[in-house]
Amino acid sequence: MRHLPRILVVEDEPSIAELIAVNLRHNGFAPTVVFDGVAAQREMDAVLPDAILLDWMLPGESGATLARRWRKAERTRSVPILMLTARSDESDKVQGLDAGADDYITKPFSTQELLARIRAVLRRRSPEISSDSVQVGELALNVATHRATYRGAELRLGPTEFKLLHYLMKHAERVHTRGTLLDKIWGDHVYIEERTVDVHVKRLRESLGEAAAMVETVRGAGYRLSGMGMAARSADPDSAQA
Ligand code: CA
Repeated sequence: MRHLPRILVVEDEPSIAELIAVNLRHNGFAPTVVFDGVAAQREMDAVLPDAILLDWMLPGESGATLARRWRKAERTRSVPILMLTARSDESDKVQGLDAGADDYITKPFSTQELLARIRAVLRRRSPEISSDSVQVGELALNVATHRATYRGAELRLGPTEFKLLHYLMKHAERVHTRGTLLDKIWGDHVYIEERTVDVHVKRLRESLGEAAAMVETVRGAGYRLSGMGMAARSADPDSAQA
């Protein structure tokens, strides 16, 4: 199951924000609504969205200021920004695009137009994103942004745990011996005891929290990452205690 595209909506007018959120939700997106730049930045720090709908006129920092900052920072650079603006002046549109917006839409806009524009920015960005990202169940990892998330919440992983998780996700549902993992993660030119793998798997499970059970120990063989058990568990909440 692929995750729904997450859209961060930064809009200070509650009625417009609500209208956008309802429409996004009905059309297969997962919107998060915030009303100003401070809350928007907090959201960006927590979970990177797949695209941002950014109002131009906001209390505090303007949409243009936020767009410029996100374009400058390496972590947020490639998140598509769609600027919402009440202005229809050509010079304002140019300023919006100069600030780093991928596209703009002038209020009032139709829902169909808004959805079409969002799909367009996601399509334009997705080739590079999809080649760098892996998804197993609700676990997602992106090499380009060096981020891993479970149910949308960012996981804190050390560099080795990140590589280990990436490898296990790319080859999910398959059993890997400790020797194979050593080769693939550490490289075969270094001598490391196989026990080292166990130590890092233990750390990885700790970082995975709720998703720890996805990393299965296959007795006498090695390790396997599986999304199947988790899918079954989340489909049937009663079996979670089993
Ligand atoms: Ca506004």
